[in-house]
Amino acid sequence: MTDRKVRVRFAPSPTGPLHIGGVRTALFNYLFAKKHGGDFILRIEDTDQTRFVEGAEAYINESLGWLGMTIDEGVAQGGEYGPYKQSERKEIYLSYTDQLINDGWAYYAFDTAEELDALREKAEAEKSKFSYDMHTRKNLRNSLSLSADEVKQLIADGTPYVVRFKMPEDTEVKATDLIRGEVKFNTSILDDKVIFKSDGLPTYHLANVVDDYKMKISHVIRGEEWLPSMPLHVMLYKALGWENERPEFAHLPLILKPTGNGKLSKRDGDKAGFPVFPIEWRPEGGEVASGYRESGYLPDAVVNLLSLLGWNDGTEKEIFTMDELIQAFSLERVNKSGARFDPEKAKWFNHQYLVSKSDEEIYTLFEPILADKSVSADKTLVIQAIALVKERATFVADLWEQTFFFFQAPVEYDAKVVKKRWKGDVPAFMTELPAVLEQVSDWNADAIKEAIAAQIEAKGLGFGLVMNAFRLALVGGGFGPDLMTIAELIGKEETIARINSAVANI
Ligand code: GLU
Repeated sequence: MTDRKVRVRFAPSPTGPLHIGGVRTALFNYLFAKKHGGDFILRIEDTDQTRFVEGAEAYINESLGWLGMTIDEGVAQGGEYGPYKQSERKEIYLSYTDQLINDGWAYYAFDTAEELDALREKAEAEKSKFSYDMHTRKNLRNSLSLSADEVKQLIADGTPYVVRFKMPEDTEVKATDLIRGEVKFNTSILDDKVIFKSDGLPTYHLANVVDDYKMKISHVIRGEEWLPSMPLHVMLYKALGWENERPEFAHLPLILKPTGNGKLSKRDGDKAGFPVFPIEWRPEGGEVASGYRESGYLPDAVVNLLSLLGWNDGTEKEIFTMDELIQAFSLERVNKSGARFDPEKAKWFNHQYLVSKSDEEIYTLFEPILADKSVSADKTLVIQAIALVKERATFVADLWEQTFFFFQAPVEYDAKVVKKRWKGDVPAFMTELPAVLEQVSDWNADAIKEAIAAQIEAKGLGFGLVMNAFRLALVGGGFGPDLMTIAELIGKEETIARINSAVANI
């Protein structure tokens, strides 16, 4: 099995936006495929038509595209093993269902939903649980309990039926999970799952196994929630005669809430204000769910932070480019236990990726925000401003609050700062300051500082006191980077104008 070409698939169901847990599954599949020179396939599992959501498939494609996971085969990309959408593969599933029935591995079941509900209720009343399995199937309405003629007649009459897998009794089955090791189970505890529904479509289990086989999938890498399905899938491979071509399994650990208690849900994100979806989801008439992309995350940062949810390279290294991840990734280093999601750490990653960009690159990202604010500033000035403040930013959008005063004069002054700083001898000093600054011929931070310091000394005032007032005049509050650099960058004329305006307006 080991010398097979690596072919992995990400197989989402188009039932809504893709949770970041799903994105992490896609990423681990992608990294594993690329590490081994294999193929990364996107298969759309849309056999449950009651849960189908318009737009979900496009959303999945856009999300993977944004994060740089190139799909080798899929609905849009095509490929040798298509169609890649399960609703277009009905005939294939039908023929394997027939094969399983003919070989005695599956049977028709005519029990109505009402009949089954009644059995469930009865069991519940007796404090037990109804299960359609080897113990009960003989007493239910199916092709194992009814005569061949009765079955024929029911089908001829158009009676709705499902097809169930006939789980063999008391059989010991072993399978290896590449992350969890050997998994053993006895078939006696398993029920007879529906593999084909009355709507003419297979259930997830049959379609998934048939497609993995037909698409020559070498490794099934998926979330832990599918681990309980593994025994049935192993049995299906056996029943279909594909045991030797069975893919290897690897079930990824859950992504846990920031508290570590339970699976990370959309609600956790809503509550704590972080996205749990890669890109924004805007269902028609429904509630908008925020995305990493729209919240200002850089795609490389998202890939990096997801990669460390359940995996590490065995060292303390945390920053990985996609190429480095491909090099370093291995399923052996994926953890069994759940990975706690830390929203603060997610921001830290974004900050790391933001500051690692050149000021010029950041400028390109920041420019649309400036345009949105109708600011048309000189590129050199914007780049200088970015260089001064980027260490304090988590997202590109944060740069606006940190730099707006380079591009426009303050329109208001922070009342608290005014109260604390604009008093005593300060207003008089500020009134005289423009004349002092007029004398500075070589306008640079050092010269400005020297001129102001000399004046402060002449007036016998405190340096700190004046600086706070000067900052208030230039930025409108008590924030911002080095004040003399701000003055230098906005220029002599603008500095003087802002002082005059503060004197007139405060
Ligand atoms: N369609 C399943 C899902 O939505 C795929 C599970 C698997 O990878 O086998 O997650």
